[in-house]
Amino acid sequence: MPINTDKKVMQYINGEFIPSQSGKSFRNISPFTNNMINEVAEGGSAEINAAVAAAKEAFDNGPWGKMKVAERLDYIRKIADIIDAHADEIAYLEAVDTGLPISQTKKQAARASQNFRFYAETVSTRMAGEAYQVDNEFLNYTIHKPIGVAGLITPWNAPFMLETWKIAPALATGNTVVLKPAELSPLSAGRLAEIIHEAELPNGVFNVVHGFGETAGAALVAHPDAKLISFTGETVTGSEIMKNGADQLKRYSMELGGKSPIIVFDDADFDRALDAAVWGIFSFNGERCTANSRLLVQETIKDKFVAALKERIGNIIIGDPLDQQTEVGPLISAEHYEKVKSYIKIAAEEGADVISADIPADLSKGNYVAPTLLLNVTNGMRVAQEEIFGPVMAVISFKDETEAIALANDVTYGLAGYVWTKDLQRGHRVAQAVDSGMLWINSQNVRDLRIPFGGSKHSGIGREGGHYAFEFYTETQVIHVALGDHHIPQFGKKE
Ligand code: NAD
Repeated sequence: MPINTDKKVMQYINGEFIPSQSGKSFRNISPFTNNMINEVAEGGSAEINAAVAAAKEAFDNGPWGKMKVAERLDYIRKIADIIDAHADEIAYLEAVDTGLPISQTKKQAARASQNFRFYAETVSTRMAGEAYQVDNEFLNYTIHKPIGVAGLITPWNAPFMLETWKIAPALATGNTVVLKPAELSPLSAGRLAEIIHEAELPNGVFNVVHGFGETAGAALVAHPDAKLISFTGETVTGSEIMKNGADQLKRYSMELGGKSPIIVFDDADFDRALDAAVWGIFSFNGERCTANSRLLVQETIKDKFVAALKERIGNIIIGDPLDQQTEVGPLISAEHYEKVKSYIKIAAEEGADVISADIPADLSKGNYVAPTLLLNVTNGMRVAQEEIFGPVMAVISFKDETEAIALANDVTYGLAGYVWTKDLQRGHRVAQAVDSGMLWINSQNVRDLRIPFGGSKHSGIGREGGHYAFEFYTETQVIHVALGDHHIPQFGKKE
């Protein structure tokens, strides 16, 4: 399934695949070889202006806003069908573009079509309002209305899944969309534009502007007609976006970084907790927002757990992302590789012991960082506090439940957490005491689409997923109507 490297990834604006007005493009680089995969049209404020204008026109005057909900949802189902028909190709593109192992990108492609199907199935019931009749005098009821042009800004890790996770509810609820995908992983968003074109959505309903964050992304945030911004990315970028958009009082959803703990008590199912700790940090190359990058292990089992971890990381299959057997692939970019490596150096300088697996010699052209354990870490160290976003896990031991909770909470992030114990009362107690948006007890990252997703503290603002997405992508309007002639004070009336 080779990629056509001569094919430039184009902007998709108002139903057309077009180059940038400036004629500029940027190089999309392979994480596996560091050679160019293909060129991408580079958009900036001109393309954002054109895309937002097309989306606004489609919302205000196009057929999308007037169409029956059932008809709109047929389009959403059609997108899911086309994704399913091309699932292998999408998984392939994603592996080539991001370095994520293909066995893992396949699951992401499947989840992407589920995102569309889920919102197609639930939008009618979930967008239902509420009504209250008061003493046969008034009726108060609510309706949910689409907001207008939704600005969606997405990161490079699991790009296709994360894009569809926002696009599906935004479109299903009747908004129109301008997507600004990450510049480091443009291929699947380019393919998604083709899929949505094939599904024959009316022109302007869905638009993609490729480009850099400081130019295209910032222009979308600043545009007064982009009524909401749903952002997934780094905490520092989220903060920058909120500052830049502050004058406009838009609606924001912020899905940001994490430094999530996995807490393993000495009564846990040892083998399952080990599987979970290893998979939770080394899957997706460790480039996952909910990765358990801090292992908090009870001191009574620390030595045994660490010995087992060392053995496991030595056996992890590091390889070509297109190889079905590969468990860990190359990191997204040479720059990100340098960042992750620099954290490993910082760990050693701070006094941690660094244990890394070996990287096969034939992979020297890719951005490979071996699965790494940082031992003798204390929670004050930078590597215990800052998001590394690579296959690196800091190991810290604790004495008892109180200390485990204190360590878990002693970070600025609060995205996810994991607790492993056979004592379910303790499991719930610890889960509720940890300040994170999501917490899994004796499980790893399984999530029903009806359940919200999001973080507390510096990991995010708001929730997406399930009915939370409907609330985010719609305006709730309250309508009060009199059923009779209720009393109205008669100011200024002369008898
Ligand atoms: P990033 O913040 O560098 O970039 C994300 C997107 O924002 C990109 O499209 C980028 O071009 C754009 N951008 C950058 N600067 C901008 C600006 N000033 N204005 C507007 N847009 C701008 O993040 P990344 O490196 O692509 O992604 C990795 C980060 O994403 C990690 O921190 C990870 O934890 C986080 N993440 C969070 C979740 C979640 O659900 N909480 C999910 C996945 C990834």
